[in-house]
Amino acid sequence: MQEFDLIARIRQRAATRSDVLLGIGDDAALLQPPADMQLVVAMDTLNAGVHFPPDTAPADIGWKALAVNLSDLAAMGATPAWCVLSLSLPEADAGFVDGFLDGFLKLASQHDVALVGGDTTRGPLSVCVAVHGVVEPGMALRRDGARMGDDVWISGTLGDAAAALAQWKAGSAMTPQLRERLDRPTPRVALGRALRGIATSCIDVSDGLLADLGHVCKTSSVGADIDIDALPASSGLRAAFDADTRRILQASGGDDYELCFTAPPSMRDAIARLASEQTPLTRIGCIVAGNGVICDGFDAGRAGYQHFT
Ligand code: ADP
Ligand code: MG
Repeated sequence: MQEFDLIARIRQRAATRSDVLLGIGDDAALLQPPADMQLVVAMDTLNAGVHFPPDTAPADIGWKALAVNLSDLAAMGATPAWCVLSLSLPEADAGFVDGFLDGFLKLASQHDVALVGGDTTRGPLSVCVAVHGVVEPGMALRRDGARMGDDVWISGTLGDAAAALAQWKAGSAMTPQLRERLDRPTPRVALGRALRGIATSCIDVSDGLLADLGHVCKTSSVGADIDIDALPASSGLRAAFDADTRRILQASGGDDYELCFTAPPSMRDAIARLASEQTPLTRIGCIVAGNGVICDGFDAGRAGYQHFT
């Protein structure tokens, strides 16, 4: 098995779209962006042992590699369209690539994303994906739009992925419901789209709620007052951890890929409608004067996952 055989396998299975004028096989892809739309581009890397346990199934690695990227587009309110994939593999393992594609292409087809190119090299297991999407001019959800008096909202539940990781690190069996959230995060693409014109700012929770909301505060030059008891928890998390540990996982655990956004109180009805139509949404606090996250009874300074520390 050679690099070219692996690329041929990928090419054979990758779906396309009508706006892909030239996909896998040339020196670069040729894409036709829709007229009068802005291009939105994001890239994320997953390294074995850092971003997923080394025994993670190839299909789950494939799913997650694309999911974390789609989550970034979701947080911008963008519609995903195309992606490229850089695969670094210890050996030219066709079985791994087939499994990887099962997860990757399943999620790609759910969002009508075409894999249009990439790179395949030998090295430690590492997967890098870049996604491209589009958004109407001026409609992107950014980190710098939070205003004093806004509500702070979170989609879904928090802490499940970090809980599974904590179980894995402790050498205990991972609760299936929690592991599912770690291995197969759901990018909130439809929610991000629906929040255009409603949210004043938005970020996806990849490093932990307090850390990520801290980025919004810093960029928007505001503070956020968060009610730790309001953070939504799944039944699986409640069953597996005591209340104190659960709070830490919810407030500072990463990898949930939920959307945290701000919106003025005048939008509460519109947000309640959204919540009933698609994903549960919970109001967890408000934007105040200041320059960081206030969370009474919780040491926000220690929160969040950081590389190189
Ligand atoms: P080049 O040497 O010109 O960079 P490559 O041999 O790296 O070309 O790749 C050949 C074609 O296969 C290119 O179109 C490239 O985008 C595509 N390709 C390579 N690896 C991947 C991959 N992992 N996923 C998708 N497409 C890939
Ligand atoms: Mg190349």
